[in-house]
Amino acid sequence: MTKTYGFDTLQIHAGARPDPATGARQVPIYQTTAYVFRDADHAAALFNLQEVGYIYSRLTNPTVAALGERIASLEGGVGAVCCSSGHAAQIMALFPLMGPGRNIIASTRLYGGTVTQFSQTIKRFGWSAKFVDFDDLDALAAAIDDDTRAIFCESIANPGGYVTDIRAVADVADKAGLPLIVDNTSATPYLCRPIDLGATLVVHSTTKYLTGNGTVTGGAIVDSGNFNWSASDKFPSLSTAEPAYHGLKFHETFGPLAFTFHSIAVGLRDLGMTMNPQGAHYTLLGIETLSLRMQRHVENARKVAEWLENDPRVDFVTYAGLPSSPYYERAQRVYPKGAGALFTFAVKGGYEACVKLVDSLELFSHVANLGDTRSLIIHSASTTHRQLSPEQQKAAGAAPNVVRLSIGIEDANDIIADLDQALSKATA
Ligand SMILES: *Cc1c(COP(=O)(O)O)cnc(C)c1O
Repeated sequence: MTKTYGFDTLQIHAGARPDPATGARQVPIYQTTAYVFRDADHAAALFNLQEVGYIYSRLTNPTVAALGERIASLEGGVGAVCCSSGHAAQIMALFPLMGPGRNIIASTRLYGGTVTQFSQTIKRFGWSAKFVDFDDLDALAAAIDDDTRAIFCESIANPGGYVTDIRAVADVADKAGLPLIVDNTSATPYLCRPIDLGATLVVHSTTKYLTGNGTVTGGAIVDSGNFNWSASDKFPSLSTAEPAYHGLKFHETFGPLAFTFHSIAVGLRDLGMTMNPQGAHYTLLGIETLSLRMQRHVENARKVAEWLENDPRVDFVTYAGLPSSPYYERAQRVYPKGAGALFTFAVKGGYEACVKLVDSLELFSHVANLGDTRSLIIHSASTTHRQLSPEQQKAAGAAPNVVRLSIGIEDANDIIADLDQALSKATA
């Protein structure tokens, strides 16, 4: 589908066409593991990557492919690969770029699970991450060394209150000849298109807003197609001969689609972090209403944040959509449609009051999730950010006296009334 259609049209139609066999209008769930080859020559051509087609659902599946095409289209990328979760997408995004001894430079403001994945787990592969405050562009540039292979940040950062100046970070990456990877989970392509601002790759936890209804986990990597993998000798997986494909060079052969093809042909083939067709189906249903939901998420978040900021039981609210935020001006400039629906606030009474608040809410659900149609709350310090040191918690915006809200699309008055009654109990 061409890019001449608007966002609201693409979120419904991109990647989908009436099923060629039956005319089915909705994307069918191709619940199959394997695909019959026309003949032996066809099979050989597929396995040699000389012809694109379906072999086995660990690699590709038509339902999953429709979702990938839709997400790529909404993000303005040339291709996308869907994975089993957001965390899988992050490993899959790094995999073609990294090797033992290589490092990434990551923002300090990240989803707690990502901090753990980058500071602990990737060490098992011989990879490492250096965490830097991405507001300090000089420190970011200074952290890059000969072994750096990528820069990683979130657009609107989880747990909230911080928005990244993607263009400024992309300029630093560009000067260093490195790809910029942006986790766009919290913003979604409706609020932000990182590729337009200079990002090389976009990763998603489709578990969140893209699906939107808390039904399935999934992830995606979108490729801008804009990075020259052969400009240096830093990315041999993409620029030099691949022994597992008879010496095929991905960048030379597939051009702007090199990263996408490598992620399928090597990444999914050998890491196996595949999205299943049922999961893709739920996300395809959810994504049809993405823009409508995001408009309401943002509208409700603004109302709730304003109400909380004026409440004497609240110490402060960190929402980049409030004029009191140090990131308000940046949010207006980089995220003009809204600063998302995820933010934190500090309850007078600290840790104990936060725990009591969480237990007193009736409409809000206390869950380790975000981006649901339902309003959600979590006390990050005792849950998602529990593995982090107190310094890391504070740097990530998850200090013990703050709770994180993911504002849903219910009636804003009901959301506020629930917070009102629970705050009374928590601070009594
Ligand atoms: C949830 C989340 C992830 C991880 O995604 P999963 O689907 O849970 O693996 C990564 N980044 C952000 C910003 C998230 O919110």
